Amino acid sequence: MKAFKQKQVWFVTGSQDLYGPKVLEQVAKNSEQIVHGFNQSDAISMEVVYKPTVKSPREIYAVCQAANSDENCVGVILWMHTFSPAKMWIAGLNELSKPFMHLHTQFNAELPWADINMNYMNTHQSAHGCREFGYIGTRMRKERKVVVGHWQTRDVQAQVDDWCRAAAGWNESQNLRIARFGDNMRQVAVTEGDKVAAQIQFGYEVHAYSLGDLNDAINAVADNDITAQIDRYASEYVIGNELFSDEYQVDRLRKEAKIELGLAQFLNDGEFGAFTNCFENLTGMTGLPGLATQRLMANGFGYGGEGDWKTAAMVRIMKVMGQGRVGGTSFMEDYTYNFGATDQVLGAHMLEVCPSIAAAKPRLEVHRHTIGVRCDVPRLLFTGKAGPAINVSTIDLGNRFRIILNELDTVTPPQDLPNLPVASALWEPRPNLSIAAAAWIHAGGAHHSAYSQAISTDNIVDFAEMAGAELVIIDAETKIRQFKNELRQNSVYYGLARGL
Ligand code: MN
Repeated sequence: MKAFKQKQVWFVTGSQDLYGPKVLEQVAKNSEQIVHGFNQSDAISMEVVYKPTVKSPREIYAVCQAANSDENCVGVILWMHTFSPAKMWIAGLNELSKPFMHLHTQFNAELPWADINMNYMNTHQSAHGCREFGYIGTRMRKERKVVVGHWQTRDVQAQVDDWCRAAAGWNESQNLRIARFGDNMRQVAVTEGDKVAAQIQFGYEVHAYSLGDLNDAINAVADNDITAQIDRYASEYVIGNELFSDEYQVDRLRKEAKIELGLAQFLNDGEFGAFTNCFENLTGMTGLPGLATQRLMANGFGYGGEGDWKTAAMVRIMKVMGQGRVGGTSFMEDYTYNFGATDQVLGAHMLEVCPSIAAAKPRLEVHRHTIGVRCDVPRLLFTGKAGPAINVSTIDLGNRFRIILNELDTVTPPQDLPNLPVASALWEPRPNLSIAAAAWIHAGGAHHSAYSQAISTDNIVDFAEMAGAELVIIDAETKIRQFKNELRQNSVYYGLARGL
């Protein structure tokens, strides 16, 4: 069973009529077998759809046009089994608006040393057919992923899957609607940005709503639905007896459940995939949503605090990309440091960390919230699961967007944090805090990020290329002098690439 239920990628093989029907029959059969192999493989999370071999400009154009208009097709894998003269591809590639991957594989793995003849050479000539095709991609300045190797290997299939997931993320980005309750936190710079520019580049729409609109949805929630929701909490989380024996805490929990159900109704009715709110805009509400936001994130919604729609979008996109994979994705904030033998970051937020990243079953507790608004808010408490992770931040540089990625190693905290009333994750950024934080700051990365243990750096590389967005990566190899030069060179490149 594929993790992606509806989305598909198409598999298109290029050739030409020159070889005659016998070779073309073999080409078609081999392509079908590759597609079958991909669909049988548990390494590839999306259905691959076989398309008949294209042999002329007209056929190539037609399949590109069909891919554009097929709602479920998120991208196209192109493979040249034989030579496919690349001028034939110009009209089609000009037309193609979905991402494409150039799969540079060959049907047969090993050479049949004793039997090889010219017939074999003419049938299995991806080695040069794909180079001719590669030229036209480069000549036309087309961003694409090139995957090289035998199609049956885990490594090739993993790269295909990374790209399929990125294409699903890109598809989500094109269709995503983000609801914004209230506005930006006053005076905060990095969470601002040009929503028109974002929609042109990433496709997603950002729509603002007043708290009155949201309160209408919250106030419409029925009492028995709230009761059913409390039962759900009791089955999913660790809840101490003292909570249920305290009338006041039960009341706070019921109010939170009401917020969650109202918010969910509002988002579902408006077909929103992500939302933002702000603790400074809560008129008419019983408090800043805590548990409610955590649960909505766990159910797949993107979220950004303090009006941060760029991070909300990225959290949602990464949740879509990561479906079916082990590991969660959350809104996150670099909060406080632990300087020591290995410098560490304790990431958290006021309330809103997604339980999909938790190391163990979360505890549900009611605590006083003191930032901006003072009230008691139910929230889930846990620490993040140890293991590799990434933080991703999208910023608006005024003339373009930049995506910043830092690879991390999340670790188990050396001690409990009994007095910390919020969920958190403790990590060691690569290559170390000293270089990672300096690079992040030079790049202008936000204090907010989309944190994930399901998404790899390669997923984000593929996504950024599909979006045509700048991406800078901070990993084990990063050196500050080189990194600063990369930022300077990128400024020139993206300035020129944008044109007038
Ligand atoms: Mn924040």
